[in-house]
Amino acid sequence: MARFRCDSCDYVYDEATGHPREGFAPGTVWVDVPDDWPCPDCGVREKIDFVPVDEPPGDQPPAAD
Ligand SMILES: [Zn+2]
Repeated sequence: MARFRCDSCDYVYDEATGHPREGFAPGTVWVDVPDDWPCPDCGVREKIDFVPVDEPPGDQPPAAD
């Protein structure tokens, strides 16, 4: 699952968790979010202004030593 960050307020939309209050159930992929969906935090930016969040290699959590 990918994540996308608001360029204005650093809100992150995570496909794995979605945004139920906005009507996007967990697992809602980015392509299913309307292009004119405004950021729920700042309301300034829209979907097209969000930037992909780079995942660490392997998408694994840091190893607890
Ligand atoms: Zn925002």
